[in-house]
Amino acid sequence: MTTQRLYYEDPYLTTFEAAVVERLTLEGRPAVALDRTAFYPTGGGQPHDAGALAGVAVVGVETREADGMVIHVLAGDLPGDRATGAVDWARRFDHMQHHTGQHILSAAFVTVAGASTVGFHLGVESVTIDLDRPHIAPDALDAVEDLANEVVTRNLPVRAWFPTDAELAAIALRKELAVAGKVRIVQIGDFDATGCGGTHVTHTGEVGVIKVLKLERRADTTRVEFRCGARALRDYRMKNAIVNALAAEFTVGGWEVDHAVARLKAELKATRTALNQARAQQVEYEAVALRDSATEQGGVRVIARAFENWEARDLNKLAAELVKTPRTVALLGLAGEKAQLIVARADDAPQDMTGVLKRALAVLGTDRGGGRPGYAAGGGVPASLEQVEAALAEAARALSASED
Ligand SMILES: [Zn+2]
Repeated sequence: MTTQRLYYEDPYLTTFEAAVVERLTLEGRPAVALDRTAFYPTGGGQPHDAGALAGVAVVGVETREADGMVIHVLAGDLPGDRATGAVDWARRFDHMQHHTGQHILSAAFVTVAGASTVGFHLGVESVTIDLDRPHIAPDALDAVEDLANEVVTRNLPVRAWFPTDAELAAIALRKELAVAGKVRIVQIGDFDATGCGGTHVTHTGEVGVIKVLKLERRADTTRVEFRCGARALRDYRMKNAIVNALAAEFTVGGWEVDHAVARLKAELKATRTALNQARAQQVEYEAVALRDSATEQGGVRVIARAFENWEARDLNKLAAELVKTPRTVALLGLAGEKAQLIVARADDAPQDMTGVLKRALAVLGTDRGGGRPGYAAGGGVPASLEQVEAALAEAARALSASED
């Protein structure tokens, strides 16, 4: 025997009585086969229905290829030989809207752009079809949407049935049938006919709006993401809220938000350039001022200075600038959440900076850092300006010690 599929005749049926004809275990869960069911099993791009059998949650529905039985995977054991089934209508109707919507959209792509659908995915997060070409022109896409939504507003009848051979021969199908034997046809008025085992609405008006969200090229195909009905409304609601919030933020109309963002990006770029120039100048000025503050200590000129609200990379530039002067040692520090110490010397100064840094870092309570004899840097721990100044004073003492 095989399961009688009640949804073929009536996709709006949500409750039914059935007899349990087989019990089994699938994916480690109890499962049953029924003599009849309104539950749609995963197939043809459409996910399975959810709901319950005698109050036990149905967590999966599959077709057993060998005999065509519909297997219901359950959250727990099902008592008794008969059960009342209840299909989750919200989930089912969402699938019906999107499956009929997919047929309409696929037929519209053929009519407008000559593009055939080679894949269909209906998921919780996204609904997509794959077209057999890498490019769809933007104006063609608008025409496809217009045609699809015109088919919706014409409220065409949707008929799903198993035609006789003679009937089938007279139907112009959108694409060749993939299965042999008795075939189910879904026909949308005079607009489309194709082989399909899915659940569909009975009039196109029930699909609601059909909206393409984006096209994505994938090798030689194009993936088309779309939404229908209630999902399209939720998507519109969410995006409208975002556009309204941005428009209020920029004090422009919603249609001008993209220009406002472009303007802001240009301003940001110009500001960054100006800021970088100003920083470079600041480093130069600071170098001039600090050279004057140098103190003679054991045959070298020592410059020590702690900073706040500087960038670490500017401090590095300053150190590099200072040690261009012969016989100079620069001891620089940056206070903050991630304090930095930089100790550097001119090539002709004798001291080893790694040892100097080590002693200075100890004042900040860390040993994270290192370098070469001529340059060493480290830190990364929080430190105040006073603490950084104390660390630099220790570095100066270490300089004297390293001469001895
Ligand atoms: Zn279909």
